[in-house]
Amino acid sequence: MSGFVFGEKPIQIESGEGPYVYDDDENEYLDMGASYACAPVGHCHPDVVEAVESQASDLLFVQGSYPTETRTALYDRLGDLAPGELDNVWLCNSGTEANEAALKFARHATGREKVVAAKRAFHGRTLGALAATWKQKYREGFAVPEHVEFVDYGDSDALAEAVDDETAAVILEPIQGEGGVHPAPEGYLQAARDACDETGAALVFDEIQTGLGRTGSLWACEQAGVVPDALTVAKGLGSGLPIGATLVADWLAEDSGDHGSTFSGGPVPCAAALATLDVLEDDLAANAASVGDYLQEQLAELPVRDVRGDGLMIGVEVKRGANRALRALAMNHGILALPAGRTVVRLLPPLTVTESHADRVVDALAEEL
Ligand code: PLP
Repeated sequence: MSGFVFGEKPIQIESGEGPYVYDDDENEYLDMGASYACAPVGHCHPDVVEAVESQASDLLFVQGSYPTETRTALYDRLGDLAPGELDNVWLCNSGTEANEAALKFARHATGREKVVAAKRAFHGRTLGALAATWKQKYREGFAVPEHVEFVDYGDSDALAEAVDDETAAVILEPIQGEGGVHPAPEGYLQAARDACDETGAALVFDEIQTGLGRTGSLWACEQAGVVPDALTVAKGLGSGLPIGATLVADWLAEDSGDHGSTFSGGPVPCAAALATLDVLEDDLAANAASVGDYLQEQLAELPVRDVRGDGLMIGVEVKRGANRALRALAMNHGILALPAGRTVVRLLPPLTVTESHADRVVDALAEEL
């Protein structure tokens, strides 16, 4: 018997601490991808581990129809941290489910079907989120529903033209991640806000990769000064325990239909999320901004095609294929990073990294490129 979906890498990781993971021979790797951005406060942060252990010994799970102190605390916490008035919180288990819920709520509240999304977008792999995901490779053979109109990311006029009074939702990443690390041009997110205001469509920001301080503020949309009607978050929220959230405005929450999930708001992932938020709020967004700027400046000196991103969400467009560079980083320098398409090396490290970690990555890339 074997798993069959992931192509596994030839390094067996057995433990982690801070920005490092360790293989079965106790070799150390600097995890500059934070394991798909799921370790924003570092691996096995002691406060998170303690919160999980303590919650697990009290109560592993209870059905969602009974409140628990931990879940209620997380509702309150996320509601307080949400941009604008997005203090209605739906908890789920992954990023794709958070987007799925946002799109369902938008359809129910508007009574409309159409969704507008961007070319190169990645929103997840369940059928609703997949329908708003651009890359053919992910869609092929899955009979993906066809209610989504795709527009060029960054083209405000094309977006305004596509959004009409049949549009339930516009879904956008404030910085496209999987699609190659492309930040929204200035004014683009506001143009999306305007188009939704004019037509009554719901604006959904997918902050699953950009959120939780990664771009230098808690939410990337804050930097653009634009508040959506729904914001989705997942990945690092539970420091690796599966939890996602959809934060929505009153008008979506009031008419959201019958949505649910067995594992929504389980006490252990909620405890992990509360502890993660405690650590994150200790100025890690500011660290992401300053170390991110430093890292981008150094990377721009290398022989690369482009360096893009914000804070500690950085794409380095290399000349000879991302996979070659990633393999060399891992095997020759003990540094793990991620691809974003064929030519982009993506850095999404824990927000705790320092300038000396940044130097190590720059030196390694300088040698390999
Ligand atoms: N949205 C964005 C922007 C993502 O980067 C991802 C995952 O990479 C998802 C959605 C899907 O999240 P998950 O893999 O937890 O379903």
